[in-house]
Amino acid sequence: MSAAPSTPGAGRYAPSPSGDLHLGNLRTAILAWVLARRTSRAFHLRVEDLDRVREGAEQRQLDDLAALGLDWDGEVMRQSERGAAHQAAIAELTARGLVYECYCTRREILEAPSAPHAPPGAYPGTCRDLSEAERERGRERMRELRRAPAVRLRAEVSSWRVQDLWAGEVTGPVDDLVLRRGDGVLAYNLAVVVDDAAAGVDQVVRADDLLSSAPRQAHLAQLLGLPAPEYAHVPLAVNREGARLAKRDGAVTLRNRLARGESAAQVVGRIGESLGVAGCRTAADILERWDPATLPSDPWIVDLPG
Ligand code: GLU
Repeated sequence: MSAAPSTPGAGRYAPSPSGDLHLGNLRTAILAWVLARRTSRAFHLRVEDLDRVREGAEQRQLDDLAALGLDWDGEVMRQSERGAAHQAAIAELTARGLVYECYCTRREILEAPSAPHAPPGAYPGTCRDLSEAERERGRERMRELRRAPAVRLRAEVSSWRVQDLWAGEVTGPVDDLVLRRGDGVLAYNLAVVVDDAAAGVDQVVRADDLLSSAPRQAHLAQLLGLPAPEYAHVPLAVNREGARLAKRDGAVTLRNRLARGESAAQVVGRIGESLGVAGCRTAADILERWDPATLPSDPWIVDLPG
């Protein structure tokens, strides 16, 4: 009997519906699709709509991705519909003593002296070991501020290692990250872990501003008994000054380019050229011609005419 083929997992693209996708987002989406399809994985789309939602943006984003030639498997997952699974994960961590309430304001966190040996920017642990009386005072204060306490992970490690397709082995800090915010919104770092695992995602392709979050997320996955995905963080798109590409940089979205008389095929062509392959007209051309080993490690400098 021959060995059973290993089940291909899935890749995904997970945009936040806060506006139209710009060229950098579109390039990341194409790379996520290409890497998934190259490895016979399924490809899923997840709308990260827990926060920062702009009316109509979701449908526009999906239409733009389709216009570049991307397709996806199954229904689009909406993070806002996943509340029960997110709460179940928090309940499980709570039952294991792995969470605590945090009564700090953002300002207090910024102004607090950092804990010894803590990585820069890490939560200083102010609320980690409070007495019950101190917690009661904290809750009282939250009532006055009309906020709920945030819920934080009681991290048991200070760093964690992940595997990235291009960056290789990356070890990064893990702190007592927020799992549920004071306004009741579930934190991105928890949602991403729970939702990727639920969809069978084992390959996470996204922009490299999130590389530093990967160790936290992989550690959280481990605590929840979920497999960590392999990561592939793609360099950001920047403007001529080297700042992250944004709306103020002009005609940077697909729709802007179409309004300037470019075709979707020409936009794919630009993205292909940024990857070192000329003459691509659809995402399928990039799938066929691009070698992932050649991904430039520098940001993509988007320098558009007009
Ligand atoms: N929603 C995030 C973004 O649009 C991406 C999160 C992820 O891919 O893990 O930047």
